[in-house]
Amino acid sequence: MPDRYALIGNPVAHSFSPSIHAEFARQTGQDIEYARLLAPLDGFAAAVAQFRAQGGKGLNVTLPFKLEAYQLATQHTERAAHAQAVNTLKFEGDAVFGDNTDGAGLVRDVEINLEFPIVAMRVLLMGAGGAARGALSPLLEKKPVTVVIANRTVAKAHQLARRFSHLGCSACGYDELVNRQFDLVINATAASIAGDLPPLPPGLFAPRSLAYDMMYGREPTPFLKYAREQGARIADGGGMLVEQAAESFLLWRGVRPDTAPVIARLRAGEFL
Ligand code: NDP
Repeated sequence: MPDRYALIGNPVAHSFSPSIHAEFARQTGQDIEYARLLAPLDGFAAAVAQFRAQGGKGLNVTLPFKLEAYQLATQHTERAAHAQAVNTLKFEGDAVFGDNTDGAGLVRDVEINLEFPIVAMRVLLMGAGGAARGALSPLLEKKPVTVVIANRTVAKAHQLARRFSHLGCSACGYDELVNRQFDLVINATAASIAGDLPPLPPGLFAPRSLAYDMMYGREPTPFLKYAREQGARIADGGGMLVEQAAESFLLWRGVRPDTAPVIARLRAGEFL
Protein backbone atom coordinates (compact mmCIF):
# COMPACT_ATOMS: atom_id res chain seq x y z
CA MET A 1 0.00 0.00 0.00
CA PRO A 2 1.42 3.43 -0.92
CA ASP A 3 1.59 6.08 1.84
CA ARG A 4 -1.33 8.47 1.52
CA TYR A 5 -1.16 12.26 1.27
CA ALA A 6 -3.63 14.89 0.08
CA LEU A 7 -4.34 18.57 -0.44
CA ILE A 8 -7.18 19.69 1.83
CA GLY A 9 -9.07 22.92 1.12
CA ASN A 10 -12.28 24.40 -0.23
CA PRO A 11 -12.18 24.60 -3.21
CA VAL A 12 -9.46 22.13 -4.33
CA ALA A 13 -10.64 21.03 -7.79
CA HIS A 14 -8.41 23.58 -9.57
CA SER A 15 -5.17 22.49 -7.86
CA PHE A 16 -2.05 21.28 -9.68
CA SER A 17 -0.63 19.77 -6.46
CA PRO A 18 -1.59 16.10 -7.21
CA SER A 19 0.25 16.27 -10.56
CA ILE A 20 3.27 17.98 -8.98
CA HIS A 21 3.56 15.40 -6.18
CA ALA A 22 3.02 12.50 -8.58
CA GLU A 23 5.95 13.82 -10.60
CA PHE A 24 8.11 14.18 -7.45
CA ALA A 25 7.25 10.60 -6.42
CA ARG A 26 8.10 9.21 -9.85
CA GLN A 27 11.38 11.14 -9.94
CA THR A 28 12.53 10.04 -6.44
CA GLY A 29 11.09 6.49 -6.53
CA GLN A 30 8.79 7.10 -3.55
CA ASP A 31 5.65 4.97 -3.26
CA ILE A 32 2.99 7.56 -2.41
CA GLU A 33 -0.55 8.46 -3.37
CA TYR A 34 -1.64 12.14 -3.36
CA ALA A 35 -5.28 13.15 -3.71
CA ARG A 36 -7.55 16.20 -3.42
CA LEU A 37 -9.66 16.38 -0.25
CA LEU A 38 -12.57 18.84 -0.32
CA ALA A 39 -13.55 19.68 3.27
CA PRO A 40 -16.79 21.44 4.21
CA LEU A 41 -16.12 25.03 5.35
CA ASP A 42 -17.18 24.08 8.89
CA GLY A 43 -15.66 20.59 8.80
CA PHE A 44 -11.87 20.92 8.60
CA ALA A 45 -10.96 19.14 11.87
CA ALA A 46 -13.40 16.29 11.19
CA ALA A 47 -12.05 15.78 7.66
CA VAL A 48 -8.46 15.69 8.99
CA ALA A 49 -9.44 13.21 11.72
CA GLN A 50 -11.09 10.91 9.16
CA PHE A 51 -8.05 11.09 6.86
CA ARG A 52 -5.75 10.17 9.77
CA ALA A 53 -8.03 7.33 10.87
CA GLN A 54 -7.72 5.91 7.35
CA GLY A 55 -3.91 5.90 7.67
CA GLY A 56 -3.13 9.24 5.98
CA LYS A 57 0.48 10.37 6.57
CA GLY A 58 0.31 14.06 5.75
CA LEU A 59 -1.66 16.93 4.25
CA ASN A 60 -1.07 20.11 2.35
CA VAL A 61 -3.51 22.78 3.49
CA THR A 62 -4.91 25.54 1.31
CA LEU A 63 -7.60 28.23 1.52
CA PRO A 64 -9.38 28.79 3.85
CA PHE A 65 -7.93 26.39 6.44
CA LYS A 66 -4.32 27.49 7.07
CA LEU A 67 -5.14 29.14 10.40
CA GLU A 68 -7.22 26.17 11.56
CA ALA A 69 -4.34 23.89 10.58
CA TYR A 70 -2.03 25.99 12.76
CA GLN A 71 -4.38 25.47 15.71
CA LEU A 72 -4.73 21.76 15.03
CA ALA A 73 -0.97 21.08 14.96
CA THR A 74 0.56 19.93 18.26
CA GLN A 75 4.09 20.99 17.25
CA HIS A 76 5.19 23.80 14.92
CA THR A 77 8.36 24.55 13.01
CA GLU A 78 9.82 27.97 13.72
CA ARG A 79 8.67 29.34 10.36
CA ALA A 80 5.10 28.10 10.96
CA ALA A 81 5.13 29.69 14.41
CA HIS A 82 6.25 33.00 12.85
CA ALA A 83 3.53 32.81 10.21
CA GLN A 84 0.88 31.53 12.64
CA ALA A 85 -0.41 29.63 9.61
CA VAL A 86 0.27 26.07 8.44
CA ASN A 87 0.25 24.69 4.89
CA THR A 88 1.84 21.29 5.65
CA LEU A 89 0.79 18.70 8.24
CA LYS A 90 2.69 15.51 9.04
CA PHE A 91 1.15 12.79 11.21
CA GLU A 92 3.33 10.58 13.41
CA GLY A 93 1.54 8.57 16.10
CA ASP A 94 -0.39 11.11 18.19
CA ALA A 95 1.80 14.02 17.09
CA VAL A 96 0.71 16.48 14.40
CA PHE A 97 3.63 18.48 13.01
CA GLY A 98 2.73 21.81 11.39
CA ASP A 99 5.02 23.57 8.93
CA ASN A 100 4.68 26.50 6.54
CA THR A 101 6.60 26.03 3.29
CA ASP A 102 5.04 28.93 1.33
CA GLY A 103 7.69 31.51 2.23
CA ALA A 104 10.61 29.14 1.67
CA GLY A 105 9.09 28.26 -1.72
CA LEU A 106 8.81 31.93 -2.65
CA VAL A 107 12.38 32.72 -1.59
CA ARG A 108 13.85 29.73 -3.44
CA ASP A 109 11.97 30.70 -6.59
CA VAL A 110 13.11 34.33 -6.40
CA GLU A 111 16.73 33.70 -5.42
CA ILE A 112 17.58 30.42 -7.16
CA ASN A 113 15.24 30.04 -10.13
CA LEU A 114 14.97 33.73 -10.99
CA GLU A 115 18.52 34.52 -9.80
CA PHE A 116 17.38 37.64 -7.92
CA PRO A 117 19.26 37.98 -4.58
CA ILE A 118 17.11 39.61 -1.89
CA VAL A 119 19.97 40.86 0.29
CA ALA A 120 20.06 44.69 0.51
CA MET A 121 16.92 45.01 -1.65
CA ARG A 122 13.94 47.28 -0.91
CA VAL A 123 10.96 44.91 -0.79
CA LEU A 124 7.27 45.80 -1.02
CA LEU A 125 4.96 43.00 0.13
CA MET A 126 1.34 43.64 -0.85
CA GLY A 127 -1.29 41.87 1.25
CA ALA A 128 -1.51 40.81 4.88
CA GLY A 129 -3.34 37.50 4.58
CA GLY A 130 -2.07 33.93 4.94
CA ALA A 131 0.36 34.07 2.01
CA ALA A 132 1.95 37.34 3.16
CA ARG A 133 2.28 36.02 6.71
CA GLY A 134 4.03 32.90 5.45
CA ALA A 135 6.39 34.92 3.26
CA LEU A 136 7.48 37.54 5.76
CA SER A 137 9.94 35.76 8.00
CA PRO A 138 11.71 33.80 5.18
CA LEU A 139 12.02 37.11 3.27
CA LEU A 140 13.48 38.93 6.29
CA GLU A 141 15.99 36.12 6.82
CA LYS A 142 17.52 37.08 3.48
CA LYS A 143 18.44 40.51 4.92
CA PRO A 144 16.70 42.97 2.59
CA VAL A 145 17.32 46.60 3.53
CA THR A 146 13.61 47.04 4.16
CA VAL A 147 10.29 45.22 3.84
CA VAL A 148 7.19 47.42 3.61
CA ILE A 149 3.80 45.71 3.92
CA ALA A 150 0.93 47.48 2.12
CA ASN A 151 -2.61 46.29 2.55
CA ARG A 152 -6.15 47.42 1.71
CA THR A 153 -7.09 47.07 5.38
CA VAL A 154 -4.17 49.08 6.73
CA ALA A 155 -4.62 47.99 10.36
CA LYS A 156 -3.86 44.38 9.37
CA ALA A 157 -0.60 45.44 7.72
CA HIS A 158 0.44 47.34 10.87
CA GLN A 159 -0.47 44.39 13.07
CA LEU A 160 1.73 42.09 10.97
CA ALA A 161 4.64 44.54 10.66
CA ARG A 162 4.73 45.23 14.41
CA ARG A 163 5.82 41.66 15.12
CA PHE A 164 8.83 42.10 12.80
CA SER A 165 9.64 45.81 13.25
CA HIS A 166 12.98 44.96 14.92
CA LEU A 167 14.04 43.43 11.57
CA GLY A 168 13.32 46.55 9.50
CA CYS A 169 9.71 45.80 8.64
CA SER A 170 7.08 48.58 8.40
CA ALA A 171 3.52 48.98 7.08
CA CYS A 172 1.37 51.48 5.20
CA GLY A 173 -1.69 51.94 2.99
CA TYR A 174 -1.40 52.05 -0.82
CA ASP A 175 -1.84 55.86 -0.82
CA GLU A 176 1.36 56.18 1.24
CA LEU A 177 3.46 54.56 -1.50
CA VAL A 178 3.61 57.75 -3.59
CA ASN A 179 7.24 58.79 -4.29
CA ARG A 180 8.65 55.49 -3.02
CA GLN A 181 10.60 52.93 -5.06
CA PHE A 182 11.20 49.21 -4.57
CA ASP A 183 13.50 46.58 -6.10
CA LEU A 184 11.20 43.64 -5.43
CA VAL A 185 7.40 44.05 -5.41
CA ILE A 186 5.47 40.94 -4.35
CA ASN A 187 1.73 40.65 -4.86
CA ALA A 188 0.48 38.42 -2.03
CA THR A 189 -3.08 39.74 -2.30
CA ALA A 190 -6.07 37.84 -3.65
CA ALA A 191 -6.76 40.75 -6.06
CA SER A 192 -5.50 38.82 -9.10
CA ILE A 193 -8.05 36.05 -8.54
CA ALA A 194 -10.79 38.63 -9.16
CA GLY A 195 -8.87 40.21 -12.07
CA ASP A 196 -8.14 43.31 -9.95
CA LEU A 197 -5.02 45.36 -9.41
CA PRO A 198 -4.11 46.93 -6.04
CA PRO A 199 -4.11 50.76 -6.39
CA LEU A 200 -0.40 51.37 -7.04
CA PRO A 201 1.06 54.82 -7.72
CA PRO A 202 3.23 55.27 -10.85
CA GLY A 203 7.01 55.18 -10.45
CA LEU A 204 6.97 52.40 -7.84
CA PHE A 205 9.39 50.07 -9.64
CA ALA A 206 13.11 50.84 -9.37
CA PRO A 207 15.36 50.17 -12.39
CA ARG A 208 16.02 46.39 -12.78
CA SER A 209 13.22 45.60 -10.32
CA LEU A 210 11.31 42.32 -10.18
CA ALA A 211 7.51 42.18 -9.91
CA TYR A 212 6.32 38.84 -8.49
CA ASP A 213 2.69 37.72 -8.36
CA MET A 214 2.05 34.70 -6.11
CA MET A 215 -0.94 33.81 -8.25
CA TYR A 216 -0.28 31.37 -11.05
CA GLY A 217 -2.26 31.28 -14.29
CA ARG A 218 -1.95 30.84 -18.02
CA GLU A 219 -2.09 34.62 -18.65
CA PRO A 220 -0.17 37.40 -16.85
CA THR A 221 -2.25 38.90 -14.03
CA PRO A 222 -3.34 42.57 -14.15
CA PHE A 223 -0.52 43.32 -11.68
CA LEU A 224 2.10 41.69 -13.91
CA LYS A 225 0.78 43.45 -17.02
CA TYR A 226 0.95 46.78 -15.19
CA ALA A 227 4.46 46.07 -13.86
CA ARG A 228 5.70 45.14 -17.33
CA GLU A 229 4.32 48.42 -18.70
CA GLN A 230 6.22 50.20 -15.92
CA GLY A 231 9.47 48.53 -17.05
CA ALA A 232 9.82 45.83 -14.38
CA ARG A 233 10.85 42.23 -14.97
CA ILE A 234 7.88 39.95 -14.13
CA ALA A 235 7.33 36.48 -12.66
CA ASP A 236 4.21 34.58 -11.60
CA GLY A 237 3.74 32.11 -8.72
CA GLY A 238 4.23 28.90 -10.74
CA GLY A 239 7.77 28.45 -9.46
CA MET A 240 6.68 29.14 -5.87
CA LEU A 241 3.90 26.57 -6.22
CA VAL A 242 6.37 23.83 -7.18
CA GLU A 243 9.02 24.95 -4.66
CA GLN A 244 6.62 25.00 -1.69
CA ALA A 245 5.43 21.52 -2.73
CA ALA A 246 9.05 20.32 -2.85
CA GLU A 247 9.62 21.61 0.71
CA SER A 248 6.55 19.66 1.88
CA PHE A 249 7.76 16.54 0.04
CA LEU A 250 11.15 16.87 1.76
CA LEU A 251 9.47 17.12 5.17
CA TRP A 252 7.34 14.02 4.52
CA ARG A 253 9.79 11.79 2.63
CA GLY A 254 13.27 13.07 3.61
CA VAL A 255 14.30 13.59 -0.01
CA ARG A 256 14.29 16.83 -2.01
CA PRO A 257 12.99 16.46 -5.58
CA ASP A 258 14.52 18.31 -8.51
CA THR A 259 12.06 21.15 -9.16
CA ALA A 260 13.35 22.47 -12.50
CA PRO A 261 11.83 19.74 -14.74
CA VAL A 262 8.55 19.93 -12.81
CA ILE A 263 8.32 23.71 -13.24
CA ALA A 264 9.03 23.21 -16.95
CA ARG A 265 6.18 20.68 -17.25
CA LEU A 266 3.80 22.99 -15.34
CA ARG A 267 4.66 25.86 -17.68
CA ALA A 268 4.22 23.62 -20.71
CA GLY A 269 0.62 23.06 -19.59
CA GLU A 270 1.13 19.32 -19.05
CA PHE A 271 -0.51 19.22 -15.60
CA LEU A 272 -4.23 18.98 -15.01
P1 NDP B 1 -6.06 35.66 2.06
O1 NDP B 1 -7.52 35.59 1.79
O2 NDP B 1 -5.53 35.15 3.35
O3 NDP B 1 -5.59 37.22 1.97
C1 NDP B 1 -6.00 38.01 0.92
C2 NDP B 1 -5.26 39.35 0.93
O4 NDP B 1 -5.55 40.02 -0.31
C3 NDP B 1 -5.67 40.30 2.03
O5 NDP B 1 -4.52 41.04 2.44
C4 NDP B 1 -6.70 41.20 1.33
O6 NDP B 1 -6.80 42.50 1.89
C5 NDP B 1 -6.10 41.30 -0.04
N1 NDP B 1 -7.06 41.61 -1.11
C6 NDP B 1 -8.10 40.84 -1.52
N2 NDP B 1 -8.73 41.43 -2.56
C7 NDP B 1 -8.05 42.58 -2.83
C8 NDP B 1 -8.20 43.62 -3.80
N3 NDP B 1 -9.18 43.58 -4.71
N4 NDP B 1 -7.33 44.65 -3.77
C9 NDP B 1 -6.32 44.70 -2.86
N5 NDP B 1 -6.14 43.74 -1.90
C10 NDP B 1 -6.99 42.70 -1.91
O7 NDP B 1 -5.36 34.93 0.82
P2 NDP B 1 -3.91 34.26 0.77
O8 NDP B 1 -2.97 35.17 1.48
O9 NDP B 1 -3.96 32.85 1.22
O10 NDP B 1 -3.60 34.22 -0.80
C11 NDP B 1 -3.23 35.39 -1.52
C12 NDP B 1 -2.73 35.02 -2.92
O11 NDP B 1 -1.55 34.23 -2.86
C13 NDP B 1 -3.73 34.20 -3.75
O12 NDP B 1 -3.70 34.71 -5.08
C14 NDP B 1 -3.18 32.80 -3.71
O13 NDP B 1 -3.54 32.07 -4.87
C15 NDP B 1 -1.68 33.10 -3.71
N6 NDP B 1 -0.87 31.99 -3.14
C16 NDP B 1 0.03 31.37 -3.97
C17 NDP B 1 0.84 30.34 -3.51
C18 NDP B 1 1.81 29.70 -4.44
O14 NDP B 1 2.39 28.67 -4.08
N7 NDP B 1 2.05 30.24 -5.62
C19 NDP B 1 0.77 29.87 -2.11
C20 NDP B 1 -0.19 30.62 -1.30
C21 NDP B 1 -0.98 31.62 -1.82
P3 NDP B 1 -7.76 42.81 3.17
O15 NDP B 1 -6.96 42.44 4.38
O16 NDP B 1 -8.02 44.27 3.06
O17 NDP B 1 -8.99 41.97 3.00
